[in-house]
Amino acid sequence: MTFSIHGLPVSRGIAIGRAVLVASSRMDVAHYFVTKEDVPLEIDRLRIGRDKVTEELERLQKNIGFRETSNELSALIDVHLMLLKDEELINGVKSWVTDRLYNAEWALTSQLEVLGRQFDEMEDDYLRERKADLEQIVEKVLRAMKGFVSPILAPMASPTLQYGANNSFMDESQELPLILVTHDLSPAEMLHFKQSVFVGFVTDVGGKTSHTAIVARSLDIPAVVGARQSTQLIRQDDLLIIDGDAGLVVVDPSPVILADYRIKQGQADLALVSLSCLRHTPSITIDGIEIELLANIEMPEDALLASQAGADGVGLFRSEFLFMGLSGHLPGEEEQYRAYSKAIEGMGGLPVTIRTVDIGADKPIEHGIRNDLHLNPALGLRAIRWSLSDPEMFMTQLRAILRAAALGPVKLLIPMLVHGAEIRQTLSLIRMARSQLDERGVAYGEVKVGAMIEIPAAALTVPTFLKYFDFVSIGTNDLIQYTLAVDRADESVAHLYDPLHPAVLFLIANTISICNAQGKGVSVCGEMAGDVSLTKLLLGLGLRSFSMHPSQILKIKHEILQSDIGKLTTWAYDVIHQEDPSVYLEKSQ
Ligand code: PEP
Ligand code: MG
Repeated sequence: MTFSIHGLPVSRGIAIGRAVLVASSRMDVAHYFVTKEDVPLEIDRLRIGRDKVTEELERLQKNIGFRETSNELSALIDVHLMLLKDEELINGVKSWVTDRLYNAEWALTSQLEVLGRQFDEMEDDYLRERKADLEQIVEKVLRAMKGFVSPILAPMASPTLQYGANNSFMDESQELPLILVTHDLSPAEMLHFKQSVFVGFVTDVGGKTSHTAIVARSLDIPAVVGARQSTQLIRQDDLLIIDGDAGLVVVDPSPVILADYRIKQGQADLALVSLSCLRHTPSITIDGIEIELLANIEMPEDALLASQAGADGVGLFRSEFLFMGLSGHLPGEEEQYRAYSKAIEGMGGLPVTIRTVDIGADKPIEHGIRNDLHLNPALGLRAIRWSLSDPEMFMTQLRAILRAAALGPVKLLIPMLVHGAEIRQTLSLIRMARSQLDERGVAYGEVKVGAMIEIPAAALTVPTFLKYFDFVSIGTNDLIQYTLAVDRADESVAHLYDPLHPAVLFLIANTISICNAQGKGVSVCGEMAGDVSLTKLLLGLGLRSFSMHPSQILKIKHEILQSDIGKLTTWAYDVIHQEDPSVYLEKSQ
């Protein structure tokens, strides 16, 4: 039966595929395809894992003795042994491997999901509770097979994997790509998405500008987050449509709906092809004003995407992604230097703005970050606050950036500054990093230093920032969160997360106009910069530099080519003075 689940649209496009449910993090395993030749080997791995657990249980059974309490334990072991030999489990797992070419661990968790649903539907309480036993034995088998890794850390595709028309990974038997359905995904897990077999994802939780959503956008994967209960409502292997523009997941679509979405998918592909003609077109408004279009990147390799999209440079390199997934170990100076150098080389002489590490809130790493659940990490030791609390770590990063600046134009950007004292301390550490390099006789380059304006207090004291910095970049994602007191990662308050709230627009307009009046560079690097529906408004408010994920650049350029700033300025100030700017904007555009 067709039904749909509504969530938040975070990454555009349409994906059609089969659901792969990763319901429980306890069961996180790798997902990859095996070759047909490897099928017997995979089944053998399963058999060995199952035999090990059977032996272990039988040994335990023998050794429990004859005490009263032993009877209960013995009965439980019997149940586990029975479940291990259950034909539905064994045959089901075999068919996932043989027909779908899933690796053994993936096959086992897929079948667990199918059987788990059957248990859930049982009337008898005793039988229904046996689901927990099934989960336990599957976990034991997985352990015996040593198949535990992150759910989306799939090895690279096997050589026999088929590619679909859109180059997506295909499930050989069903000729359909795969879509991950999971409760949540961390930004670090998202980074591995590129190497995984999935072409889209749906999560139960998450906000529109959560970092998971941001990475999804930068990877240009259709995605819907905050689709509450999707892991409950969607079943393993269900046919899914992800409508990333509408924030909709259609489950088990009828042939008519499916055909309709295939047409939409084709049209979207065509639109992208026609946009690609704009790559070398200068980004100039109708009245001849040049607009800078920069890219936001997370990893050095993304520089390639940025330059392919025709970006004028990198406006935001979120360096914290270099710090994630390292099990708490921090990247050293050389490691960071190599990463920054790679991004600089990738941009071939265009400027690269490297933001110092912004760890904390929804981008945690294990190292040194307190994990007190009663505290609010978004208001805590995040970004520059963390850097200043660990000067050695910060100096290491600064030295690496300064050294990389010898290879090409680099700007240094500091996140989440708010106090004058923090500003002065930061600048003094930058000076200190330079003198350390001087002492070591190591070459480094000149950098322009800028600050992010992403806290209301910063936006209200822009002149202080301009006294110390060469440029500023407005981080609208956090500016909205902190102005409206709405957690950007929490889907339950997503309806209140409003870029067009008059207070937010006032802070943005104020920052742009002060910077323009003083001739200082100002750009927007939050998600608002990549939102086509806001381009004319930001142009009208005086913005001349936009930084966004590469996949949005050509769309924004298309909008700029059709804009006449002479006609936008008065209108933009009208918009921001409305009680409800979004309604006015919609009517008047
Ligand atoms: C922002 O806050 O708008 C921003 C660009 O930084 P981040 O999304 O990484 O917090
Ligand atoms: Mg921010």
